Amino acid sequence: MVKKDAIIIGAGPVGLFAVHQLGIKGLNAVVIDNLDKAGGQCIELYPDKPIYDIPGIPECTGEELTNKLLEQIKPFKTKFFLNERVDEVQQKNGNWFVKTNNKNEFIAPNIIIAGGVGSFEPRKLTLKDIEKFEGKSLFYSVKNKDDLKNKNISIFGGGDSALDWALELSKFSKIILIHRRNEFRGAIHTLNEIKKLEKDGKLSIKTPCQLESAEGDKNLKSITIKYEDGKTEKINTDIILSFFGLVMKLGPIAEWGLNMNKKTIKVNSENFETNKRGIFAVGDICTYPGKLKLILSGFHEVALASVECFKRARPNEKYRFEFTTSSKIIQDRLGKK
Ligand SMILES: Cc1cc2nc3c(=O)[nH]c(=O)nc-3n(C[C@H](O)[C@H](O)[C@H](O)COP(=O)(O)OP(=O)(O)OC[C@H]3O[C@@H](n4cnc5c(N)ncnc54)[C@H](O)[C@@H]3O)c2cc1C
Repeated sequence: MVKKDAIIIGAGPVGLFAVHQLGIKGLNAVVIDNLDKAGGQCIELYPDKPIYDIPGIPECTGEELTNKLLEQIKPFKTKFFLNERVDEVQQKNGNWFVKTNNKNEFIAPNIIIAGGVGSFEPRKLTLKDIEKFEGKSLFYSVKNKDDLKNKNISIFGGGDSALDWALELSKFSKIILIHRRNEFRGAIHTLNEIKKLEKDGKLSIKTPCQLESAEGDKNLKSITIKYEDGKTEKINTDIILSFFGLVMKLGPIAEWGLNMNKKTIKVNSENFETNKRGIFAVGDICTYPGKLKLILSGFHEVALASVECFKRARPNEKYRFEFTTSSKIIQDRLGKK
């Protein structure tokens, strides 16, 4: 069980800045996110799109903002638990206990929910009985590419994830890239590299076709794909990787007994606490009169929420407001005298 001053649910821009605001007050935290990387909507929905309304940064992309936020919190050496969805939140002896779908457990006096529009989850295959292969031969993300060495892998999808993994895994496995359309949506330079590999006989592309069935009892043995003209083809397959994009689901957050307003959590705008003491909601997931779903609003919200977190985590210490220019904590962390 990991014990911290605060548990941050969500590694979007607001969750990342929460690490900073807690850190400069001397509080430690963990960050948990369902995605395989930090950045939330900025990295998942618009990594290359410019943002023009971050104070002091005239223009940056979603990816650049994420990288800058990660750089800014580096001194706090915060541990991230990625690919993990927070499923359970319970009160235990005055603290909050959190459990993830990977059965990791955390305890803290404070929880900061920076869950945005909910957890991003993979759009799953809908074929009958296909779920029996999930986690063994069917995957919606790659956690450890070493597990996929020397296999027959069928990759479904036409976007960047499908193309990037086809390219990467073709270095050590037999790859068949399958897409329901002839045109791919992913980056053109990746597609060109893939087409070159196909020409050299190092990878196969099958279009326009879809998964018709998956054969095997415990372990997957083969799949059958169906072309637009009705023809079918059986392919020996050990592993299916499916990349059909992500759907956003509020998920378990709705079951934690918080005051909800549609898909958002009601907070007071003094410290962004919810109806449960010690549970805060910030960023896109919170609502209060006048709320604006902007990154800069989320930054303000975590600044205030972290003050209340300090009072709960250090009940015997007095909170002292400080500018970072003269903060000893930040100077120590940055190695400045
Ligand atoms: C196309 C587009 C353009 C935009 N442009 C701008 C702009 O120019 N300026 C601006 O200010 N804003 C812009 N926004 C809005 C901005 O991206 C959001 O306001 C911001 O991302 C909210 O940050 P957040 O950290 O609150 O949530 P998010 O970025 O949504 O991150 C939430 C994270 O929480 C995780 N999560 C949720 N539930 C769980 C759970 N149970 N367990 C584990 N993890 C969980 C999710 O996986 C996600 O990674 C834009 C949005 C879009 C879609």
